[in-house]
Amino acid sequence: MIYDIAIIGAGCAGLSLAYQISKNKNIKKKIIILDNKSEFKKDRTWSFWKVDEHDFEDCLEKEWFKFNIKYQDQYKIFDKTIYPYQTIDSLKFYNKIQNELSNDFELRLNSNINTIKKKSNIFEIKTENTNIEAKTIFDSRVPNKDPGNLYQHFCGYEIKTTENYFNENSVTLMDFDCEQKNGVHFFYILPFANNRALVETTWLSYLDELDKKNYIKELESYIQDDLKIKNYNIIREEIGAIPMFRIKSQNEFGYFNIGLRGNINRMSTGYAFPYIQKHSRIIASTIENLSYEKAISSKYEFLDRLFVKVLKNNISIMPNIFFKIFNEHCQNQVIRFLSSKGSLLDDYQVIKTLPKKLFLKNLLSYGK
Ligand SMILES: Cc1cc2nc3c(=O)[nH]c(=O)nc-3n(C[C@H](O)[C@H](O)[C@H](O)COP(=O)(O)OP(=O)(O)OC[C@H]3O[C@@H](n4cnc5c(N)ncnc54)[C@H](O)[C@@H]3O)c2cc1C
Repeated sequence: MIYDIAIIGAGCAGLSLAYQISKNKNIKKKIIILDNKSEFKKDRTWSFWKVDEHDFEDCLEKEWFKFNIKYQDQYKIFDKTIYPYQTIDSLKFYNKIQNELSNDFELRLNSNINTIKKKSNIFEIKTENTNIEAKTIFDSRVPNKDPGNLYQHFCGYEIKTTENYFNENSVTLMDFDCEQKNGVHFFYILPFANNRALVETTWLSYLDELDKKNYIKELESYIQDDLKIKNYNIIREEIGAIPMFRIKSQNEFGYFNIGLRGNINRMSTGYAFPYIQKHSRIIASTIENLSYEKAISSKYEFLDRLFVKVLKNNISIMPNIFFKIFNEHCQNQVIRFLSSKGSLLDDYQVIKTLPKKLFLKNLLSYGK
């Protein structure tokens, strides 16, 4: 049988796309979803500011209206935001979508893709066990890491403490009081309860500078020495690296990259979940004649490129710059800017906090 569509990867992008296609009752297509994993697990959480409605409120782990940032001895509290910071539990998301997909979808796990070849207008997908034919492919296989490039990379432990330790109402978005070395380094805490939180060590740096041993050392020393938590159990671990550059991502007729493989993430912030949702809706609503509408606007692509350029050349002053961007006097403006929803006034409020000479210098050499 020849499938109309093969979706490669049953992760965030593959399943979001399947969900949006399935929701549209006018689309009548035979669709196969292939993934090399053997089961669905809670392998990560997705957090973001909810500036738009989305379909996954029932997959929330928690939401907060308060967050804080720490830099040297300074501490900023954001508690006047109208936008909740939400965290989605990936397993609830995977289960919801599997339960709600129509009968037009077939999901095959344990399907490692070896090759994809085009023969006249049909793609032949070879897995270890079988060959599959499809007219159109949406591919979300995560690309290989590029060690010489800049990534937001992180490792986190979800821990449970014996005593109530965390303030479950406030997210620590960035705690810069840690060793910086050759990158920007901060800790991130999502307190799901007073005795349960995801604590993450996060770096903006070239990928080849850290390995898992270092992440674990950093996490343990932060939990034990800085947070002063002695008794805790590790419930879960998550690890990842999000490119702070654009991957060469070739779409050709009938073959499209989605998710991180398709650069559907903000380069400066690493947030991808809301953009993957938007991209999935765009694809599903224009499936017969795919639209070129972007999930991330040219304005934010441009600002992100400039920001990353400044970051690459001035790593040591970046914690201070991040601290300044988070201006407590315009909390909602900052969130809209970081969530690609800023008006010109919002953008101006944020941009004016940046060191002008430095950004101007990098703007003048933009593209070089
Ligand atoms: C640990 C972690 C935490 C993150 N947290 C956030 C966050 O808080 N907020 C946010 O906005 N973004 C976050 N991101 C970034 C981004 O949202 C996620 O990476 C998101 O899962 C990207 O979706 P994707 O579909 O591109 O990749 P994935 O969700 O990783 O899906 C790719 C799928 O392809 C499958 N696959 C890979 N190779 C093959 C192969 N050869 N054959 C068949 N199948 C294959 C994989 O098994 C996987 O299921 C996070 C990323 C990670 C890794």
